[in-house]
Amino acid sequence: MILSERRVTLKSRGQVEKMRTAGRLVADVLDRLSEEVAPGVTTADLDRVAAEMIRRAGAIPSFVGAPGPLAPYRHTICVSIDDEVVHGIPGRRRIEAGEVVSIDAGAIIDGWHGDAARTFVVGEVPAEVALLVDETKRALEAGIAAAQPGRTIGDIAAAVESVALEHGYGVLREYGGHGIGTEMHEEPFVPNYRGAGRGRKLEVGLCLAIEPMFTLGRHDVRVRDDGWTVATVDGSIAAHWEQTIAIMPDGPEVLTVNGRDVSLSDVRHV
Ligand code: MG
Repeated sequence: MILSERRVTLKSRGQVEKMRTAGRLVADVLDRLSEEVAPGVTTADLDRVAAEMIRRAGAIPSFVGAPGPLAPYRHTICVSIDDEVVHGIPGRRRIEAGEVVSIDAGAIIDGWHGDAARTFVVGEVPAEVALLVDETKRALEAGIAAAQPGRTIGDIAAAVESVALEHGYGVLREYGGHGIGTEMHEEPFVPNYRGAGRGRKLEVGLCLAIEPMFTLGRHDVRVRDDGWTVATVDGSIAAHWEQTIAIMPDGPEVLTVNGRDVSLSDVRHV
């Protein structure tokens, strides 16, 4: 997302604690959805499960009401399949074996956001597709590891891009990570590729959503007529992983976790 005129905010320990609460719920939602993703399930079914979980927790879905070119977003999650990279709208589409399903979820608790995404492989897919999903996750982990206090946004971007360069993956240009706090999207923008400069210094208290988006083909994407779905122009398969982190004095801390291993979500569902 291209961001402008938004603030960079640094969070106190107490505020990071609040974001941890929201992040834990988002991790719970994605864990639950990892069990629901299967052939025959509609993307609207997944959205209903997420909406119910978030409402029952007394939280608010982050994405509802997000401004779009045609109308505000009306759903709890984004579900993007195969050549769709991000912002896929839940609906009647049924998930099929052999598909790659990226789910993005966000929740607000007590005014603070958590934002995370995972990509699931449904049944059997070609080895290069499974590798893309795994390596996009590894790029997320590399980006998080680079998010040390005193380093820069450019260090995160370089760490993420390096994984893509190993394989020749397409790296989306116009979309990337972002600051996060009482707004879902705050400054700074966190690109997934090396840019002109090093970018902002990573100060303690800065909270970021890091989210590599890689494709098996070119990086070009277009927004479909629905006003939301971002899909590859060449039809190539894409993957998307995201975590919300806080820059702490000792290093980055992932906030969108609940104590369970995220790798469990990368199950191959048959
Ligand atoms: Mg995000």
